[in-house]
Order: sequence, then structure tokens, then C-alpha cells
Amino acid sequence: MTNLAAPIIPITPIIPTTPSLPSAPTGQPLMTPPATLEPLPVAAFQAGNFKSDLKPIWCPGCGDFGVVTAITRALAAVGRPPHEIAFISGIGCSSRIPGYTTAYGFNTVHGRSLPIAQGIKLANPELLVLVAGGDGDGFSIGGGHVAHVIRRNIDLTYIVMDNQIYGLTKGQLSPTSPRGRKTVTSTFGSLEDPVNPLLYVLGYGASFVAQGSPADMPGLGRIIEQAIRFPGFAFVNVQSPCVTYGEAEQQLKAQKARIVSLESIGHDPADWASAAERAREQATKFYTGIFYRNPNPPPTYGQAVSQRQQSLQNQAVPRHDILNCFVPNH
Ligand code: SF4
Repeated sequence: MTNLAAPIIPITPIIPTTPSLPSAPTGQPLMTPPATLEPLPVAAFQAGNFKSDLKPIWCPGCGDFGVVTAITRALAAVGRPPHEIAFISGIGCSSRIPGYTTAYGFNTVHGRSLPIAQGIKLANPELLVLVAGGDGDGFSIGGGHVAHVIRRNIDLTYIVMDNQIYGLTKGQLSPTSPRGRKTVTSTFGSLEDPVNPLLYVLGYGASFVAQGSPADMPGLGRIIEQAIRFPGFAFVNVQSPCVTYGEAEQQLKAQKARIVSLESIGHDPADWASAAERAREQATKFYTGIFYRNPNPPPTYGQAVSQRQQSLQNQAVPRHDILNCFVPNH
């Protein structure tokens, strides 16, 4: 049923081959990232423009199929051409995802997608930067990096496909596996409480925190689109079921029966305390939608660098004054 014996295919940059694709207007100084990504005036792109010819080798029925579809729909709605997008991932089943899009992709090493994505964004602030990976990649080996991308407020979108298992390596306990979960490495049931990704990023001050599921494809596409448009670090936790090693209650059919849209219960995404309270219920409730969106987003790291450069320019000492220090009356 699974293709896990297949070798990992290194993802190489895929340069869009559609010469007629329009370029989005930029008009921004090099170090000033756009505050928001406005849609182009016409529907310039379809989701198909962002799907590569590479066929996914995920197990049939894997939730990640839905996630890549939602991402391509969101990218079409945002309207940036594929060559203006960098899509970075770590290691794991879900980290194959950049290769299935026409964006530039970099399948990095385990847990190191965020440092590399930050470097890419700082080197070329005009790129739209997406990062994707699994719960193990993001909250175990890479967990230390999450706090730092949040406190810097790097303007990128981080999508975690949370299936509470290590799927690529055949079903070990992951950092989000619930207490009691039986796996090949916890045959009598896990003795550990899981990491709560929503509380984790809220606690470190993320300004955009959301959760979605391929069980609600239109909703997931809208959430990812809003995350991409958010001016600053945005986090989307996707409950993406592993059909091969996951439990029955994690599968799409069971998810559909449990989903509660935050919008439907009147949740105010501007209310951080309410967002944290909802996030604390992660073990027993399945909320989808935007938990928190800072109504007054702080400056991004790129904007802060730009402001610093500007202020230093204004304080610049005239060149002849500097030379006078070494060669008086030169
Ligand atoms: Fe297969 Fe699970 Fe990996 Fe998806 S996450 S490809 S279902 S092992």
C-alpha cells in the first residue's frame, strides 16, 4: 500500500516553463518587503499553474494530497507567479511537497527548513516564502528554530502537516502523538504528553495562528491564503491524516464528524486570550479556522532592517569628517 521503500527524490528548483505568465508588480525597495500581497486585478493564475509534473509518491489517501491542492489554490488566489515563490521543507513524507509545485523548492535536512527559509527571505525580501514539514520535523528536531523565527517575525508562512506520527520511517511516536498512543516505539502506549503546536507558537508571540484540515478543502485553502497574505510570520497547523500508520479517529471521515469551525462559534481572532483558551482544548476539540490574527501586526524583521538602514543613513558622518580623523585638512 505504501511507497515508503522508494528512494527520497531530491527536489531541485523547477523553473516555470510558461513564458506567458505575467509578473506581479513589485515596486518595492530591495529591503522593504510588501506589507500585504494584494491580488492581481484579473484572475492571472489557476491552481494548475502551481502544480508540477512530478507525481506524488505518498500512500493513496494520504492527507498531504489535499494539502498540496489547498496550497496551489491559495497561491492562485494570491496571484504571485511561481518564479517569485520559494518553497522550503525539511525531511519527511510531507516535506516532499515543494517538488509537487512549480515554485522554486529546497528539500533541506531534518528540522532545518526554517533557518534556511529565513536566510532566503532576508537575502531576497521580495520573494514569497513558504515553509512546510511535518510535526516531527517542526516540533522535535526543528523545534528550537520555531521560537526564533517567531521572535524575529520573519515574513513567511509555515505550514505543518501534523499527523502525530513519523510516517516516512514507518510509524514511530512523534512529538504530537497523544499520551497512550501505541506505535512501534511505544508498544504499551506513550507515557508522554504531546507538544501542542498552537499553544507553542501562540506562547512565543506568533501574530497569525490557524488550523485547518483537508477534510474541509475550501476552508483549508482560505486559511492558507490568509496566512500568505498576512504581513509577518504566519503559522498553519494542518491535521493531515496518515492513512498507513494513523489511528482511525484521525482519518478524514472521522475528522469531518468532529470539526468545529471557530467562525461558527463566534470566536474573535483578535482576542489572544480566547485563542489560547481554544488552543488549550486541542486534545479534546477539533477547531479549524484562525485562532489568532494580531490586529496590529508588528514590523517584520525586513521592515526593521530597512528602518535601521534609513536611520543610519540619516546619521551618516560626512566622508571628509572621517578622513579628517586620519589626515587632518586633507
Ligand atoms: Fe503514507 Fe503516512 Fe507518509 Fe502519508 S504520512 S505518505 S500516509 S506513511
